Amino acid sequence: MRFTLKAPVSGPLVPLAQVPDPVFAAKMVGEGLAIDPVTDCLRAPCDGVVRRLHPSHHAITLETAGGLEVLMHIGLETVALKGDGFRPKVKDGDRVRLGDALVEFDPQTLAARAKSLLTVVVVTNVERVLSFTHCSGFVRMGDVILEMTLADAGAAAAAAVVSGDSALGEKLRIPNPQGLHARPAAVLASAAKAFAAEIRLERGAESVNARSVVAIMGLDVALGDSVRIVARGADAKAAVEQLTKLLLGGLGEAGADGGPSAPKPRATGDPDRLTGVSASPGLAIGIVQQLRREDVTLARYGEAPHEERRKLESALAQARVQLQALEARLRSEADPAKAAIFAAHAELLDDPDLREPAEQAIGEGLSAAFAWRTAFAAQADRLAAMKNELLAARASDLRDVGGRVLRLITGSEAGPIVFPKDTILIAEDLTPSDTASLDRTRVLGFCTTTGGASSHVAILARSLGLPAIAGIEARALEIPAGTSAILDGTKGTLRLRPKEDELRSIGERQLKHSERRAAALLSAAQPATTRDGHRVEVAANAGKIDDVREALALGGEGVGLLRSEFLFMERTQAPTEDEQHAAYSAMAKLLGPNRSLIIRTLDVGGDKPLSYWPIPKEENPFLGERGIRFLLDHPEVLRAQLRAILRAAPEGKVQVMFPMVATLPELRRAKLILEEERAQLGAASIPVGIMVEVASVAVMADAFAREVDFFSIGTNDLTQYTLAMDRGHPRLAPLVDALNPAVLSLIDNTVRAAHEHGRWVGVCGGIAGDPQAVPILLGLGVDELSVSVPVIPEIKARIRSLKFAECQALAQQALASGTAEEVRALSPEPKE
Ligand code: PEP
Ligand code: MG
Repeated sequence: MRFTLKAPVSGPLVPLAQVPDPVFAAKMVGEGLAIDPVTDCLRAPCDGVVRRLHPSHHAITLETAGGLEVLMHIGLETVALKGDGFRPKVKDGDRVRLGDALVEFDPQTLAARAKSLLTVVVVTNVERVLSFTHCSGFVRMGDVILEMTLADAGAAAAAAVVSGDSALGEKLRIPNPQGLHARPAAVLASAAKAFAAEIRLERGAESVNARSVVAIMGLDVALGDSVRIVARGADAKAAVEQLTKLLLGGLGEAGADGGPSAPKPRATGDPDRLTGVSASPGLAIGIVQQLRREDVTLARYGEAPHEERRKLESALAQARVQLQALEARLRSEADPAKAAIFAAHAELLDDPDLREPAEQAIGEGLSAAFAWRTAFAAQADRLAAMKNELLAARASDLRDVGGRVLRLITGSEAGPIVFPKDTILIAEDLTPSDTASLDRTRVLGFCTTTGGASSHVAILARSLGLPAIAGIEARALEIPAGTSAILDGTKGTLRLRPKEDELRSIGERQLKHSERRAAALLSAAQPATTRDGHRVEVAANAGKIDDVREALALGGEGVGLLRSEFLFMERTQAPTEDEQHAAYSAMAKLLGPNRSLIIRTLDVGGDKPLSYWPIPKEENPFLGERGIRFLLDHPEVLRAQLRAILRAAPEGKVQVMFPMVATLPELRRAKLILEEERAQLGAASIPVGIMVEVASVAVMADAFAREVDFFSIGTNDLTQYTLAMDRGHPRLAPLVDALNPAVLSLIDNTVRAAHEHGRWVGVCGGIAGDPQAVPILLGLGVDELSVSVPVIPEIKARIRSLKFAECQALAQQALASGTAEEVRALSPEPKE
């Protein structure tokens, strides 16, 4: 019988012998080939049943109707990613058709962290195949890659019958750091095939055929698990002896140095310290709890379509009532940010991209629950796969609202989860509903393995005042419930099993910090003048009017950065010119005639597109259409915003600032448009500044200073562009430090050029709110620090404790330093 396998991904075919992995290359796992993928979803190469989706999601085995086992392994050495970068679309036991999506993967994560992207496709039970014909060249998904002539199943089974003596091996502990994943399993299976005996690998009551890679992987043998070899047949004793020895030796795997050893910590880093991105600052000492959502099994087919349609309609109507009630409650509690999220959820209920596919599927006989889940999950996965924070946040909204409707269809509405006291919550993702219903008297903080610093979860965590980490290492999901931990939301680290003295010193730090904060609050209204009389302005980074109100209460001397994009988010269309005018006017009035309101024009595009202005997918979104580039390509958006700003200007001290400027022509075009709009409105001129966040501007600061009224240095972006390190990358986060001397040198150049031309310079990136950085920034001559609202009093207090002359000397030392660590060592954190 002939059988063909089709390409599960597109890309050039690579013979197994050329795969840089001795186990695959020697065909110990099976016969087949590899593909260097240019697509990012592994699809079924034939019809079959999912026999085994590896827990790390990097490998999957299908069994065909004829009993062939087809193993696909995405990338090399990807088991160590522990699921990071993989998004399975199926589960064990699922029946799949040729071309169905099996596992989506993130080529960037794999390229950065795995040995290779080469994806191996092999038939593991080669005894079932009489001959293989391999294809070559570039294949597209679905092209034939392997043709086979199959052996008669009955003959193969008959050949497997054995008789003779039995031998029982010693129990031994598995030394392999990642357990028996594909490669060690293949080594064992291959060695087992050299014997005539029937050989099985046992773990507890489970026992599998030691000749089958898939069966061995299916045992899920982890580091430290106890197993043994049993055999029956003429050479059973020799088989047991040799295979036991091989297992003890780690099956040739590096890092598994053999011996019945206790589980070892991961080779990289401190196993009790996990890192992610700071999503919300603060410290919490508590006990880890995991939040896991059970995936409910739904009946695929339903009653008559009109009946299923009625169920869906009724659930949607109930969900709308629930969401409106939730929104109204939050508004009455003066929490408009959260209220807006649930208003957006209510809008999603009418989204045709959700309803139409669901209704169509119901028309085809599927149950309302199944059709609805398929529709929202597909949309959410599509958005999440776009890999930008804002769309990922929208994916999480979709899952949230989708889950709400699903529970209403199935009648399984769950009450809020009750956590023990002092919980530090760990989850893959938290929906806005989860976050809003968290009991703050019990949950002290949380970590999610997904999301970034600007996800909804992060915004909500900040508004709840809960420390939080996003994008934490995936192994956080494996921390046993009840493990003690310290969550440092500011640094983005989770410390497990802290010692008594660590806990004591953190407790003392928290106490001193709150004492210092109380003292700073008392003097918040005082100006920020150094001990030797140098005055620095401390302003706020704001997104909405509540921030402005709070900033004023905390001694903020203006708004140094209004991130106007916040007005454009969580909506289905852009705010009109009048809506923007109303918002800017209200803020300007609140601040009055003497406090600046610096309105940054819309900073979206690239990594933060808005759903209603789709931007084509970009290879490098941070280097693509962002900020001013987007606005100059959409001049109608820029013109409307500038008119709104110019019209609001008489209400206070309004200034305009352009983001992400990289070249002089960009600045000139933006200024020309501003001037045209001003002239048409007959409005007064307003000061114009730019964000200095691209290295080209800092280097050419002299030329730019001639054409603007002020600079505000966006160190978040300036650092990422100078160091070529993604500011949201969980693993690079600790290295993206704006106190790197290269960044300081650009700040120095900017300040010098600006002052030469009589312009002022602010810093509005996160570093402005870092107490260690404050003396250095002052010493470099920065005139204004624009910081997140809650830290205004502390930063003002810090400035009052300094001497400007000492700061200047310190800045020179910092500029002469070699690393960010050296700079930080020069400027210790203030004593708490
Ligand atoms: C910055 O880049 O430092 C900045 C303040 O802008 P944003 O964080 O909004 O990109
Ligand atoms: Mg920026």
